[in-house]
Amino acid sequence: MTRTDTPEPLSGADWQYSPAPERFRPEIDAEYGLFIDGEFKEPRSGKMFDTINPATGDRLARIAEAGEDDVDAAMAAARAAAPRWAKTKGTERGKYLFRLARRLQECARELAVLETMDGGKPIKESRDVDLPLVAQHFFYHAGWADKLRWAFGGREPRPRGVCGQIIPWNFPLMMAAWKLAPALACGNTVVLKPAETTSLTALHMARLIQEIDLPPGVVNIVTGAGDTGRLVATHPAVRKVAFTGSTAVGRRIMEELAPREIPLTLELGGKSANIVFADAAIEQAVEGVVSGIWFNQGHVCCAGSRLLVEESILEPFVAALRERMAQLRVGDPLDKNTDVGAINSKAQLDRIRTLVGEGQAEGAILHDMQSTPLPEKGWWFPPCFFTGVQPSHSVAREEIFGPVLSVMSFRTPDEAVRRANATPYGLAAGVWTDKGSKVFEIARRMDAGVVWCNTYNQFDACSPFGGVKESGFGREGGLHGLRGYVR
Ligand code: NAD
Repeated sequence: MTRTDTPEPLSGADWQYSPAPERFRPEIDAEYGLFIDGEFKEPRSGKMFDTINPATGDRLARIAEAGEDDVDAAMAAARAAAPRWAKTKGTERGKYLFRLARRLQECARELAVLETMDGGKPIKESRDVDLPLVAQHFFYHAGWADKLRWAFGGREPRPRGVCGQIIPWNFPLMMAAWKLAPALACGNTVVLKPAETTSLTALHMARLIQEIDLPPGVVNIVTGAGDTGRLVATHPAVRKVAFTGSTAVGRRIMEELAPREIPLTLELGGKSANIVFADAAIEQAVEGVVSGIWFNQGHVCCAGSRLLVEESILEPFVAALRERMAQLRVGDPLDKNTDVGAINSKAQLDRIRTLVGEGQAEGAILHDMQSTPLPEKGWWFPPCFFTGVQPSHSVAREEIFGPVLSVMSFRTPDEAVRRANATPYGLAAGVWTDKGSKVFEIARRMDAGVVWCNTYNQFDACSPFGGVKESGFGREGGLHGLRGYVR
């Protein structure tokens, strides 16, 4: 790191980090088929689509687009494998999961770089957050595989059968792990559909699944967009559907499945509130707010995208936030110093721009990193925040799924709770205060599946995650996460 001048106080503009590029490059094939019955197969649909590096706009590979015949083939393989896998002893299923967890750890660098190239998130996140949590989920569920009777109070839980699982693009391999690990531990077989912009890490994991000799058909991976997802969710062979994605698509899936008795887990969108009281440790709260919204470009379902600050500290808090924002490094996601990477797709960038434009048109004041030079190629949006936000403004109500924070104030704890809960969503919330009693009182009154106190965005395989209201239902992780996968 080199310092270019010596003014006080320090601010981001005074410092330049030397480039610290991640040099490892995984081997990426020109084309990827569908992973069905333990093998990669050409799509019967004959269709392929491009997967793009959002930091450069360059094509990384061509991916198969599964049509009806392909999804039928994947479902047939999963159905054929189901009885034997269900009868496989828990200790044996656990060994497969354990082996997969170990292989994922051994290949963590390759997979982290691939995740960053395909999705745009900074390498320090895919390396230090995503991949460790992916391995942790398989290790954790390996432990449950032979203990399910104890998980369910002496009863003998049985698997449901074929699970259709559909995941989004913001934590591609992590979402795949959250879905696959509990399903397999409980003796189910799976047809998984990754998001169309980020299929590569799931397909590379399929190779590890081959290496550990998981019986063919236990895991099948079909790639494609919404039409493929719909085929998976509505297939007659499916006995359980688990979906993570937007509330709009979740609602559609629920409508389609309404006539059938199919257990469903929906992990949907959010507009989570971070509440900062005047008695909080302010520097810590600023860091928590920063990581809560600007981490992973705000591509986080539980992002703390609404900040509620007690009125008496609003001004200094906003000043501290602005100073911290100026220090963030936006750019090449493969640079180990980068804090904020590329926006995942052109469509997502357009959506962020539209919603930010709406916020300005409605009268909210935008604070952005105007001086930050953004790379010329690829899709970028610098971290920013709005002040002067009214609860009726679209930036206070709609999920932006980008690095955009809306700052509001409150005067009393009751008003904080009322404002935080004034949203159709209910995924997560944060409470920052020095008083333990206030933490518990406020957390208890939050309409949110997860409440973090004096921290934000903490995940663990043994801790259940999921929402209330329009953020969905069902839990992933922990004992609660197993329930969806057993009868
Ligand atoms: P999306 O709903 O557009 O897509 C999610 C997945 O569903 C993709 O694989 C997509 O191809 C597929 N899909 C699209 N239309 C479908 C249909 N009609 N039937 C079946 N599948 C279909 O969401 P996205 O843009 O990929 O992801 C962002 C959203 O995901 C945000 O709203 C975010 O909050 C949410 N999310 C929630 C959680 C959580 O745990 N609650 C976690 C991550 C992301």
